[in-house]
Amino acid sequence: MPPKKPVLALPTSTQEPTLSASHSKMIIKLLFPRGFCAGVYRATSALSTALERYGAPIYVYHEIVHNKWVVEYFRQKGAVFVNSLDDIPDGSVTLFSAHGVSPQIEKQAKQKKLQYVDASCPLVQKVHREAKRFVQQGYTVLLIGHPHHDEVVGVQGEAPDKIFIVKTKESIDSLPLTAHDKVAYITQTTLSLDESTTIIEYLKSRFPNIVGPKIKDICYATQNRQNAVKMAARKYHQKNLIVKAVIVGSSNSSNSIRLKEIAQEQDISAFLIDSPADINSDDFTNVDVVLLSAGASAHESVVQQVVEYFQSTFNASVEEERICEENTSFPIPTMP
Ligand code: SF4
Repeated sequence: MPPKKPVLALPTSTQEPTLSASHSKMIIKLLFPRGFCAGVYRATSALSTALERYGAPIYVYHEIVHNKWVVEYFRQKGAVFVNSLDDIPDGSVTLFSAHGVSPQIEKQAKQKKLQYVDASCPLVQKVHREAKRFVQQGYTVLLIGHPHHDEVVGVQGEAPDKIFIVKTKESIDSLPLTAHDKVAYITQTTLSLDESTTIIEYLKSRFPNIVGPKIKDICYATQNRQNAVKMAARKYHQKNLIVKAVIVGSSNSSNSIRLKEIAQEQDISAFLIDSPADINSDDFTNVDVVLLSAGASAHESVVQQVVEYFQSTFNASVEEERICEENTSFPIPTMP
């Protein structure tokens, strides 16, 4: 079974902290939504199912999700993570990660007669479909995203000579395109909402006829986690409090990094950690409020460990800060 989502028995009070100037007690503001999204549940459930049904080893092309804890959990269960299909024996059961793959990888998997399961998130698959549709309609596609991210590499693979990755205004200016070219844009699912809005506005000013996706590519989970951090950061930073943010997530997790950056943009010190072992207690001496969130690939049990760390080290109390509910779920992919 995948790591189970533990139930946290925490108060859901939305009361604001009433703290004295003597910093008598730290409050953990446990932000919600946080942690596993529907795509990550789907991918990890698929891997658990494959391990149960076929036994180890199960090969996984790229990390199933970008999180050290999750990858190590599955490695111990018999998953083998590879960055090249050449490292997989022909005919083996193989999963593609939540970030998706290019058509070239799928073709290679067929040539090797791999029994593969596509665990890519349906919201990433949607970006692939948009890329293909725009290219078929004759557009040059500008993919706003981080150049070496697995998702971006996979989407660009839909038409490598028609899809250009852009991240900054400079990268847009260096493209061999004129204002009148037929240009479309799409985005990586885990970008910063604010940054991508700025880039899209710039694209619209450079290419007046540019078209984009009907529905925003940045996924619901990324938006909700970013909004929760931003709202809490604004709410507590305005008070006479010492506030810091802790984001549970790995350093190669795009959406986790964005959460840390969003807190920092609100002038709040923020720490991206894989586990409580990464916390330096000196950083939290005299802190009144810790805003605690987790990237979409970070497991709730690690969040709970972080809560326990602050409770035992700083006698912290915990209050949940909930900005919305999430009900999205995806069925797990069909097994071979
Ligand atoms: S972060 Fe968004 S796009 Fe990525 S796996 Fe989760 S739901 Fe899918």
